[in-house]
Formats: sequence, structure tokens, C-alpha cells
Amino acid sequence: MLWFRNDLRTHDNPALHYFLNTSCGSSSDSPRKAIFFISEKQWLAHDWSLIKIDFIKRHAAALVDELANLNIELSLVEVDTFDDQVNYLTQYCQAHNVDTVFANSELEFNEHQRDLNCIKQGVPLMLYEADVIVPKGLVLNQSGSMFKVFTPFKNAWLKQVRTAGFDYLGKITRADDKETLADNKVKSVNNIIKSDGLSGTWPLAKEYEANVFSTFLQTKLTGYEQCRDIPSIKGTSGISPYLAAGVISPRYVLIALLNRCPDLLLATDSPEFSWLNELIWREFYRNLMFHEQKLCKHYCFKEQYQLITWHNNQTMFTAWCEGKTGYPLVDAAMRQLNQTGWMHNRLRMVVASFLTKHLLIDWRLGEKYFMQHLIDGDLASNNGGWQWAASTGCDAQPYFRIFNPIRQSERFDPNGEFIRKYLPELSSIPDKQIHFPHKYMEQNNISGYVKPIVDHKEARLKALAFYK
Ligand code: FAD
Repeated sequence: MLWFRNDLRTHDNPALHYFLNTSCGSSSDSPRKAIFFISEKQWLAHDWSLIKIDFIKRHAAALVDELANLNIELSLVEVDTFDDQVNYLTQYCQAHNVDTVFANSELEFNEHQRDLNCIKQGVPLMLYEADVIVPKGLVLNQSGSMFKVFTPFKNAWLKQVRTAGFDYLGKITRADDKETLADNKVKSVNNIIKSDGLSGTWPLAKEYEANVFSTFLQTKLTGYEQCRDIPSIKGTSGISPYLAAGVISPRYVLIALLNRCPDLLLATDSPEFSWLNELIWREFYRNLMFHEQKLCKHYCFKEQYQLITWHNNQTMFTAWCEGKTGYPLVDAAMRQLNQTGWMHNRLRMVVASFLTKHLLIDWRLGEKYFMQHLIDGDLASNNGGWQWAASTGCDAQPYFRIFNPIRQSERFDPNGEFIRKYLPELSSIPDKQIHFPHKYMEQNNISGYVKPIVDHKEARLKALAFYK
């Protein structure tokens, strides 16, 4: 049997590949059996956003049809908890003499515990790896440990990719072996899976790949370095929801990139490399979490920060969440998140810095809020990003580097185009004043925008003393 988890795809899916190339469990011409658990309660308990859940459900429904072409019947089974998943599989495997359950491993602590429970209960679980380009644990420093700095990790990672080649990429072929599917105990919910439309503006992976991603590679990749920091333009790929949900594989992305730029692995100063560099950050954070499981439990990577007593002012936190801090770029960014389920990378850095350094609020509250609202919420990248901004993480921003939200706005949204999109109350403010419009508004008797909840200069000094 095949168990889909964070890998709802047919391309570069090792578990699917090996499942198709084994004859175990096949006894007739009937379709072979695959399963995906819809665990909404569990997902919500882990702070997954509703938009991400909808996105996953849409992909699960699409996969049912895609797998039918491979003569695999995918059952979507509704359960509440991970324990329910374990119980379900245990009973199923016993009742049907299943000799192997093929699946791709998941990085996170709870998922890992669930898999251990499965094995304890006798589920014959066979795990492969599908969430990274280079298998986790292979990129190590000379003493055999995980790197603590990104650049040497990147160099060692590149060396691995150059020497390993891509022979390990599974090629998906149509099944020759078939198994009997005679399971009236399976509560299939294929017919009741419904999208609530929340993620509707994000096309399914196949469509994204054919239209958006190919256009990005053809027309935007070379200008990525110049455009990636400007939130008012679509200068980035928008692939994060697909990678986070596992509906597009990172190896597959790398191959698409190399097809376009065959010398990229050696041309590290080419404009295209800067995009690969970001994908390597993703690999870095996944490797970090693999080696440092405490990160799954939201411990600070740098232990000395674990004892910080954050101020955690609830009124200020609410203002941040609602985009009402009085700092236009911060507010526009938070409203982008609240309205669309996505936020531009530059803005993620700005709002995370603002929450932790201007408001002295625990990065974990921001991390949780992001997970609850992002379509691309991903424990490793989110944790890495938050700890980077809060200066508590591995190869993080030094504590004394504090983003000035006004200066960031002037640099990355010079005409206020992005700000005006999300803060209509500032639509009449001139470009020059829009980054911090309070004086101008007062002088011109304009109301309708919140006063700043902190003074930048004071907050900066407070943060420096606090961190020290
Ligand atoms: P592109 O610029 O096109 O980059 C391509 C891919 O590279 C991204 O899809 C992503 O997989 C990877 N990538 C890019 N930047 C980073 C980075 N800084 N760290 C790790 N991987 C990166 N990314 C998530 O996927 N999920 C999260 O929950 C998440 N939370 C974040 C929280 C904070 C505080 C910060 C600062 C960053 C976070 N990121 C997260 C990283 C980054 O912001 C997003 O991956 C990026 O904005 C997604 O847009 P894109 O796909 O258009 O990126």
C-alpha cells in the first residue's frame, strides 16, 4: 500500500516509484491501493492555516484522478488525530496482510513520532526521502556535524549536487502489478471533499508549472536579483505554497532550472544563481531542523536567548496582527498576509524584525501567527525565518541590526505603490510622505490612519539594551 503525506504528487515521488516497481500485495487486475488522511483537526491543532488546508484538499482531489491513470485507487480518509491514523493503518494492514506501506518521510517531530508508533504497532512502514534536493544529513562539515553558517553549507551542498548527479530521481511508470482492492471498511470520502474556495487564486500545481513557473523561468529569472525585493511587483516565483505542500518537488524544480541554465552549478555569480541560492536556504533550514529537533519544539537555536523575558504586550501584538501599528510598510504587509495568505519575503523580514525588536514580543507568537495565516506555512522555513529576524537563530541577523521600517519602505516601496494597495486610507498621501505620513496628515488635517504605536528611535535603543 502507498501512503501519501506531504507529497501529493506523481513526479519525483520515491515512495510511489518503489510502490509501482514492487509486486508485493498485487494479486489481480484490480487497482492498487493508496491512502491519504484528511486530518483537519490535527492540522488546525498544528496551526495550519485554512487556506493551506483548502490548497491541500484541492490537490488531494486532483491526485485521485491522476493516480487512476496509474491504476491506483487513492482513498481520502477523514480522521481526527495522528493516533487515529496509526490505528487505522494498523487494523488495515492486519486485515489485508499488507507487507509494505510505502511512504515518504516527514521532517517534523510529531510526524516522526507518529511513524515510530506505526512501526511499534507492526505497520510495515518503508520510508523514502522526497522533501529536499540532497538527502538530509549528507551535507556535513569536516567534523561530521551540521554547518552553523549558511555559506559553507551552500558550498558543500553544491559539491554534493555536482558529484551526485540526478540518478536517484525516480521515474514514474505505469503500474504492471495490480492488487486487489476489496475493502468495504475504508470510509472513502472522495465524494465529500469540498474546496471552500479559499485558495482559489492559486492554481493547481500542474497549471502553475505550465503557466506561472515556466514564465518565471523564461522571463523573470534573469531579473530576479533586481526585482526580488520590491513587493509591488511580482518578481519572485510564487512557488512556496507548492513546495510547502509537497505538490511540487524541489529536485524537479532544480532540474527545470538546470535545463534552462545548464552551467548554473558552477556559475555561482550568475544572475540566475541568486534564485537557486534561495532554494538552498530552504535546504539549509530543513537540514538544521533534521539535526536540531529542539527547533520543532520552538526552542531558540542560540540557547542564551531561551531565557529572555519578552514583553509580550497584548495590545501591541493585536495592532501588529491587524496591520495597525502606524508604520505603513508593516501594516500593508500584515494586511497582505491577512487578505491573501501570502507575504513577500522582504516584508516577512520587516514585520518579523518589527515584532521582535520594536515591540519586544516573542518571535514564537509571530511564528504561530504566520503559520495560522500563510498558504506556504512550513515549520522549518518559518522557524528559520523568524529566528533569523529575532537574532536567536543559526546564522541569524546580529541582534544590533534592527530594520528601520521607514527606511525599508523608502528603499523597497519608493512610490508607495504597495502601501497604497493595502492601505487605502493613505491613497491621497504624496510618495515622499507615505512612508511615515503622520506629520503630513496632521499639517493637512487628514485623519483615518492609526498613530504609531512606538517611536522608532526609542524602540531601537530599548531593543539594543534588551538584547544586550
Ligand atoms: P522565491 O524568491 O521565488 O524563492 C524560491 C523558493 O526559495 C521559495 O519558494 C522558498 O522555498 C525558498 N526560499 C526563498 N527564500 C527563503 C528563505 N528566506 N528561507 C527559506 N527558503 C527560502 N518560506 C516558506 O516556504 N514557508 C514559510 O512558512 C516561511 N516563513 C517565513 C517567515 C519569515 C519571518 C521569513 C523572513 C521568511 C519565511 N519564508 C518562508 C521564506 C520566504 O519568505 C518565502 O519562501 C518566499 O517569500 C516565498 O516566495 P517565493 O516562492 O515567490 O520565493
